[in-house]
Amino acid sequence: MTDYEVVIIGAGVAGIYQIKRLTDLGVNAVVLDGNEDLGGTWFKNRYPGARFDSESFTYGYSFSKELLEEWHWTEQFSPQPETLRYLNFVADKFDLRQYMQFNCRVEAMTFDEDTNSWTLRLHDGREITTHVVLTAIGVLSIPTTPTFDGMDTFLGESFHPFDWPDAVDLAGKRVAVIGTGATAIQLIPEVAKVAADLTVFQRRPNWAAPLNNAPISDEEMADIRRRYDEIFAACARTPGGFEHEPDRRGFYEVSREDRLELWDRLYDGPGFGIWLQNFTEIFMNEEANAEFSEYIADRIRGRVDDPELAEKLIPKDHGFGIQRVPLETHYFEAYNRPNVHLVDAAAAPIEQITANGLRTSERDFEFDVIVYATGFDAFTGAFDRIDIQGVDGQKLRDKWSDGPITYLGLMVSGFPNLIMLAGPQTAATNFPRGAELAVDWTTPFLEHLWANDLHRFEAMPDAEQAWVEHVADMYEPLLLRTAKSWITGYNSNLEGHEYGKMRYNIYNGGGPRYTRRLQDVAGDGYRGIALT
Ligand code: NAP
Repeated sequence: MTDYEVVIIGAGVAGIYQIKRLTDLGVNAVVLDGNEDLGGTWFKNRYPGARFDSESFTYGYSFSKELLEEWHWTEQFSPQPETLRYLNFVADKFDLRQYMQFNCRVEAMTFDEDTNSWTLRLHDGREITTHVVLTAIGVLSIPTTPTFDGMDTFLGESFHPFDWPDAVDLAGKRVAVIGTGATAIQLIPEVAKVAADLTVFQRRPNWAAPLNNAPISDEEMADIRRRYDEIFAACARTPGGFEHEPDRRGFYEVSREDRLELWDRLYDGPGFGIWLQNFTEIFMNEEANAEFSEYIADRIRGRVDDPELAEKLIPKDHGFGIQRVPLETHYFEAYNRPNVHLVDAAAAPIEQITANGLRTSERDFEFDVIVYATGFDAFTGAFDRIDIQGVDGQKLRDKWSDGPITYLGLMVSGFPNLIMLAGPQTAATNFPRGAELAVDWTTPFLEHLWANDLHRFEAMPDAEQAWVEHVADMYEPLLLRTAKSWITGYNSNLEGHEYGKMRYNIYNGGGPRYTRRLQDVAGDGYRGIALT
């Protein structure tokens, strides 16, 4: 006997939907979450400017017509407070909180081969047993900060945007932002509006394009409601998992004028169109990429008053779309403000944090607040933080020391009765509808086990090996395989994550191909999974 049949770790987007599906079936299940409340990434990332860059209505759940009828998104790209309200609305509507326990950080979990069950140890020493563990612990949920000397000597406030303090007031303050990733690119224009002075420390500029957000009127929302089936069908059909469909004309089959016409339209259009409705050659062919990158560079030049500053904001070491493209709202215009300054942290690296600010190789700066927008221990970080011990005492963090190894991004050989709802090497994590995809595969899989009196499942080593090779192959044709980004496992603040030590973190084969594979595996008696 175990305490639960299923334990879900994480009460974010995937965990909320998974507990709904399981409790609808009457399964004895619980969600454990280390935070004080539900919402996962949308509970944590409260920095100014945090919002979807997926269209709100493509990100929401599709499982309940009633929910789709009742919820009104107010913006094309929902801001964090509204998204958190939405997740709370869903949990309350379906009365799901009763199955959730908060402030429960899972520190360790060990598989017992005699009982085919897991024992989870929480941070307060409590132990919980369960047959099945489903992880929904996020792919960007472990923030990483630099390890500069003197970080603990700073007398002002300093934090990562993931842990943005509710009480911090930047009005009239001298603020430093370190980093220019998607997070910094969202928060810099907002901080610029209130801070007396903002200094951005940029080591490498990032390509970014306008989000072009807009409110959603009652009439537009009514139209979205009418189109929901069509919207979700488009998301399921497109490789990127959005409504945006790639331009199927060949890059070189159309004239330069036609290319420019498309790019002007996409640049002025909403969301990821600029990335996902573009010519696919841009992401595989260096020449095509260089031409498009130059187009974007010109758009940046048109938005930054100081030409020298504009050049500093244009990446020279990689092309557009090779790294994950941040979408921005007046990011480049923020640098036209007299209170915003850019420091080239590659030319003059930060050497030390001081009591009153920081010191670069060139000079001292004084600040009241330092924001470390310096990224995450992506994909494997949240798994590494739990001491996961599988068959024969093997630890997941050891198995994954050089990068993730999975079957379908869902299971790991040697770690039975464990499914990752939002793990590495799955399309479910890079698509807005991915959480539903993972849950909608996992739930009937578990029903199949229960219906057939099966007590143990585990990925087969050869199936796992073949999946890892397939995931690696999917990186091959894409220029993003060269990215200095979390997509390839790079993080300058983490040992073992140096550039060049490739980690195959995401599945680049596209949503439809991934979905077909999941369906095939299920249709073929759960091929590649040992069921006993
Ligand atoms: P990130 O893309 O990894 O960017 C980290 C930034 O910090 C980089 O500019 C990096 O510079 C810099 N940095 C790191 N360590 C540094 C150091 N020691 N000194 C100086 N600079 C340093 O992290 P992120 O911005 O948090 O974004 C991560 C991902 O989260 C995004 O790609 C996106 O998928 C997701 N996200 C999504 C949304 C959304 O959906 N709306 C919003 C925000 C984030 P280098 O490039 O030189 O390493």
